[in-house]
Amino acid sequence: EKTPVTLLGLGAMGSALARTWLAAGHPLTVWNRTPARADALAAEGANVADSAAEAVAANKLVVTCLLDDASVGEALAGTDLAGRDLVNLTTSTPAQARDRAAWAGDRGARYLDGGIMAVPPMIGVPEAGGYVFYSGSRELFERHQDTLAAPAGTTYVGEDAGFAALHDVALLSAMYGMFAGTAHAFALIRKEDIDPAALAPLLADWLIAMAPAVHQTADHLRTGDYTKDVVSNLAMQVAGTPTFLSTAEQQGVSSELLSPYFELMRRRLAEGGGEEDLTGLIDLLVH
Ligand code: NDP
Repeated sequence: EKTPVTLLGLGAMGSALARTWLAAGHPLTVWNRTPARADALAAEGANVADSAAEAVAANKLVVTCLLDDASVGEALAGTDLAGRDLVNLTTSTPAQARDRAAWAGDRGARYLDGGIMAVPPMIGVPEAGGYVFYSGSRELFERHQDTLAAPAGTTYVGEDAGFAALHDVALLSAMYGMFAGTAHAFALIRKEDIDPAALAPLLADWLIAMAPAVHQTADHLRTGDYTKDVVSNLAMQVAGTPTFLSTAEQQGVSSELLSPYFELMRRRLAEGGGEEDLTGLIDLLVH
């Protein structure tokens, strides 16, 4: 007997989640602010509630996947959450998630926050590697882990309800740094007779080869020794920065994406971090 699920929100992500629970045989009750969006799911076997209150009343496990935190507050405003296990997969900030956890607790619900590391086509496709960060009530997570695992992998990151959002934003922030770097790389060749499609695999392989550097960074942060096993020290790297800036200038490319990082490198060097790797830059960011 599969756990019945209530799902509020049938946008691109909510609809994908709904289909995996239906496919996995979970009885599913759905609600969406714009009712027409539930029509297709009704045809696929979902029960469609007329109101959010009715949907919440239908099942103990209630999942929200709405636009933002404000829409969660609006959608759940007139509902009775007492005794419910509320899983909020709406993207939020850590502070919003913590506030929402307290808010749910005040209403007698257990709360689990989620940060989805997947796009809708990856939902229900295990080999796509998508997963969801969860944080908040460990009891709720353990009780419903099998149900939550139907759409995507599950990675529980702690009792602090804000940690799922924090992990989500941390990973996506790193992604933007990577995109910034590749934007600069493509810009450098833009006016040359170099096929971007020839550069792309070289770029992808290089980024993959460099990615494990995060493990050394983590090790340095844990031990506090930023010089252990350093192969490219900061002094050498700062000495190389004019090459990058001159190359950008020669190619007619703005260095605005690189400059802030180089500025941090120079500051750390000036503070005496020449024998370190780049870990010390992290401390310059935290205030
Ligand atoms: P959509 O824009 O497709 O859907 C938004 C949903 O929120 C709709 O069901 C909409 O209802 C509902 N909604 C908006 N405002 C309100 C409100 N005030 N009251 C009630 N319902 C409201 O978004 P997605 O489905 O793509 O995203 C949902 C969540 O999943 C977001 O937090 C997003 O960040 C997250 N996510 C999405 C990813 C993606 O690639 N799509 C990836 C990772 C996370 P209506 O139909 O009536 O407009």
